[in-house]
Amino acid sequence: MGRRRKKVVHIPKKRLPKFFSCPTCGKETVKVEISREDSHAVAQCSSCGLKEEFPIKHALGEVDVYCMLTDRVYGTVKRTPVTNVKKE
Ligand SMILES: [Zn+2]
Repeated sequence: MGRRRKKVVHIPKKRLPKFFSCPTCGKETVKVEISREDSHAVAQCSSCGLKEEFPIKHALGEVDVYCMLTDRVYGTVKRTPVTNVKKE
């Protein structure tokens, strides 16, 4: 009772890594850029030049895109354990 639900949800800053481990060259040089207006994301490795584009749903985040990237890369080759994305 009387407990007002605040409209503003406080979102703690996620400690997401800026760069992800590249599924092809293994370096942490993969950057994910999400363009929400266009509903697509680009994952690009600045080391080996790997670049993949994905259509995304608005709720997806960088990590999800990175997962799609690894799925796409590993989907074509033998599945190997991926270095996990660092989570908090
Ligand atoms: Zn790479």
